[in-house]
Amino acid sequence: MTRLSDIISRDEWTREDLAYAVGLEEGDPERELLSEAAHRVKAERVGCVSYYRGLIEFSNICVKNCLYCGIRKSHSSVHRFESTLDEILGIAKWTYENHYGSVVLQSGERTDPKFIDFVEEALRGIKRVSDGKLGITLCVGEQTEETYRRWFEAGAHRYLLRIEESSPELYSTLHPADGHHLWSVRDACLRTLKKIGYQVGTGVMIGLPGQTAENLADDILYFKALGIDMIGMGPYIVSRGTPLGDRVEAEGGNTDAACRRRFILGLNMIAATRLALKDVNIAATTALQGLDKRGRELGLKAGANILMPIVTLPEHRADYQLYDGKPCIEDTSDQCKRCLTGRVRWAGDTVGFDSWGDSRHYFGER
Ligand code: SAM
Ligand code: SF4
Repeated sequence: MTRLSDIISRDEWTREDLAYAVGLEEGDPERELLSEAAHRVKAERVGCVSYYRGLIEFSNICVKNCLYCGIRKSHSSVHRFESTLDEILGIAKWTYENHYGSVVLQSGERTDPKFIDFVEEALRGIKRVSDGKLGITLCVGEQTEETYRRWFEAGAHRYLLRIEESSPELYSTLHPADGHHLWSVRDACLRTLKKIGYQVGTGVMIGLPGQTAENLADDILYFKALGIDMIGMGPYIVSRGTPLGDRVEAEGGNTDAACRRRFILGLNMIAATRLALKDVNIAATTALQGLDKRGRELGLKAGANILMPIVTLPEHRADYQLYDGKPCIEDTSDQCKRCLTGRVRWAGDTVGFDSWGDSRHYFGER
């Protein structure tokens, strides 16, 4: 029996088990074992069905300055845009008519009253144009409890807020020390979202400078301790012109080999998370495909069951570049749909059209 098959046979995974699995390197035959075991758990616990969440990136205006992000406030060469309500509703209608069960409304972070009202209006509008049938995930950052409640009442039922990194020390190296980028606030937001009744998603960036396999194991244990319903995590990808991206580049951390390592870590994290958390929804994120043409399919094979095809208006896609080489920015939504459905089939899944594909964990273990 190999060390991994011994680990897989256990019901509860320790920090050491998780770190071992996450740290397996490309070419190690145990990686195949990890992926197959995770795929078996996926088939048993959530089924081999991939659910689509049409990703509407509706604005790249942000008040934050996360050191890694291509649309951070201080990135002055970024052309800023805001979609209109009509544009958002037009996209939502297309998404509904194309049988995607849900949309994700994502943007930079803003907390001004105009923005809060706008999101509320968009939520009610999306429900209206889809006869109440589109599920809605919000991904618009840290907000007050009152705001989260307003949006929940307006129709959002899932919220995605990545903790980015479960270690507060590592988190502090990724954000300015200006008192506005606090790990404790992000953690508190996740707890508030749960209390309100959202299906709560979180996640981390994988392959960050200074991040160890033990940190990644702790990330999975953090998801578990918080009772998280959905995971949206992916490799960190350099964005040139950001403080972190430029540092990584200067230190030789943006070579093909380094990117490949982040990609493999990303797949291992999906598999280990599926094995440890079992019935949560896990996204195969676009960033995986940013590092490998078959990235998202391999994510599905490693245990993911959610895809987030970009449905942002073509004219805004290039302005929403969180990292360099983001895929799909040249494509139309029709092209994305055709291409993705082929990818899902290649991975051996079917598409859960017209379904919200809610997190089983949310209903099973609250
Ligand atoms: N502004 C909101 C927030 O930060 O929660 C939502 C949108 S933000 C652009 C969505 C996610 O993009 C972040 O949680 C972060 O993990 C990811 N992201 C930003 N820059 C990235 C990079 N260089 N590589 C990979 N992911 C990145
Ligand atoms: Fe803004 Fe989100 Fe990017 Fe941070 S990660 S700079 S909050 S868009």
